[in-house]
Amino acid sequence: MSTHSELVETLRWKKFPVLDDGLVALVDVMGDDRAIVQAARVSYGEGTRTVSDDRTLLRYLMRHGHTSPFEMAEVKLFVRVPMDCWRQWIRHRTASVNEYSTRYSVAIDAAQRTPPDQWRLQSAQNRQGSEGFLPKELGEELSAAELELQNHARSVYQRRLDLGVAREQARKDLPLSTYTEAYWKIDLHNLLHFLELRLAPQSQWEIRRYAQTIGYEIIRPLFPLVWEAFEDYRLLAMPLSRLEQGVIERLAQAGKVPAAEEDFLVAQDPAWKELARCRERDECREKLRRLGLLRP
Ligand SMILES: Cc1cc2nc3c(=O)[nH]c(=O)nc-3n(C[C@H](O)[C@H](O)[C@H](O)COP(=O)(O)OP(=O)(O)OC[C@H]3O[C@@H](n4cnc5c(N)ncnc54)[C@H](O)[C@@H]3O)c2cc1C
Repeated sequence: MSTHSELVETLRWKKFPVLDDGLVALVDVMGDDRAIVQAARVSYGEGTRTVSDDRTLLRYLMRHGHTSPFEMAEVKLFVRVPMDCWRQWIRHRTASVNEYSTRYSVAIDAAQRTPPDQWRLQSAQNRQGSEGFLPKELGEELSAAELELQNHARSVYQRRLDLGVAREQARKDLPLSTYTEAYWKIDLHNLLHFLELRLAPQSQWEIRRYAQTIGYEIIRPLFPLVWEAFEDYRLLAMPLSRLEQGVIERLAQAGKVPAAEEDFLVAQDPAWKELARCRERDECREKLRRLGLLRP
């Protein structure tokens, strides 16, 4: 079995491609599963030190939100990402960032392109989301227009530079699809928070692809016990609100499990009954389906 440092050397600067021209690479990592356990034992005492005890302790920490030991590990990544995606990414304020400067250097000559069969349709349910795809024939028109637009924006930019316009001003009409590059350093606690938010299905597909790459290609192998606990207690866990617990209790008391839609509507929270559209009710319905408590 390879040691942690051998694993780090295998992963360091390995370029994981994301989207059409993006990437994620591990630059550095401080700590491993054991570093987190070691930090926690300052609070919890020496106790026993077997691997299974490490696992039990890590799972306890994750389950109960004892977050500070996870801050003892840090990860530094190099990322190449389209600016629209980066705009969402950079909202995670707890990271340290150094980004490629388009004041100082000529903007990276690459823009993210959408294949004809990948134009997503606006979701009817979720104003921030998408569902389904535009037919490919229409997508071809959009992809061709995208290419034309990006090429035009780049040539206008290049013309400004050729005429001596300052890079800081010449860049202002570059599209948000233009790639940028950055070093991004964050502790494991805040990285898991980023991953939990950006791996969620309601997160935009493009940033989700980055989160999947970071999570599954880099963090899972580097911190296997942390990752297992993260999946069990956060990523794949399902919080049930007081209202949702009430729905389940009423269905169980009425012996209506698995329930039909009519039973669910009878058992729903009283506050939802008046509402023709209710997102909380929809989310509850979805959770009950996942649990097999409501028929599809
Ligand atoms: C699906 C989705 C949709 C979104 N939609 C929008 C949108 O429409 N508009 C929009 O503006 N943003 C939107 N966001 C961004 C979102 O509101 C957060 O800004 C972003 O996800 C970063 O989360 P965070 O603040 O928890 O993370 P971080 O900035 O990494 O902070 C981590 C944690 O540190 C603490 N923290 C950090 N800074 C402070 C502070 N100054 N004061 C108190 N506590 C702090 C908080 O507990 C925080 O959760 C969206 C995010 C997601 C995932």
